[in-house]
Amino acid sequence: MTADLHRLVYYSRNHVEGTDATLDREIGDILAKSQHNNRRDGITGALLFNAGCFAQVLEGPLGAVEAAFERIQQDERHGDVSLLALERIEARSFPNWAMGFVGASQHDAGRFDAIGSASGFDPARLDGEAIHSLLRDLAVEEEGIRH
Ligand code: FAD
Repeated sequence: MTADLHRLVYYSRNHVEGTDATLDREIGDILAKSQHNNRRDGITGALLFNAGCFAQVLEGPLGAVEAAFERIQQDERHGDVSLLALERIEARSFPNWAMGFVGASQHDAGRFDAIGSASGFDPARLDGEAIHSLLRDLAVEEEGIRH
């Protein structure tokens, strides 16, 4: 275990416009860059996209997670980036995934919507632990996860 292992959870709104193909390409680019950088930086996690929103869990050494989040916040492909949780953890939930992608199916979208609806999609009321648990469950369940 790394002494300063931390988990960060955030939520943001998609700013990529265009066709589904454009969005797929952008998400592919985001995942490729994330996986490259995160392997280098000792970060693991999962990214969820649906309903025009991103939710992401980053886990790793505190300094690396904070540096990645700084870059992510400045990325114009999304906005209204809201930090939901940053806490020390004992163990990683996504130890093998430099960045997994979850939530693309209709069924999964419904499960994310349920969490969003409970908060009125108000980032201030979104529950970081509920989002972490959902991403972890989806990552375990989904077949063909891109990671
Ligand atoms: P470069 O790739 O050299 O990019 C330099 C600058 O260009 C950055 O400011 C970048 O934001 C911007 N940029 C690059 N490509 C595009 C593009 N196609 N459209 C618009 N702007 C662009 N990065 C991680 O390292 N780890 C993550 O887990 C991670 N998750 C992300 C999740 C989401 C939802 C989004 C939107 C981005 C995520 N990123 C992640 C990407 C992050 O925002 C930065 O783009 C990336 O970390 C910059 O990598 P780099 O320093 O190698 O710079």
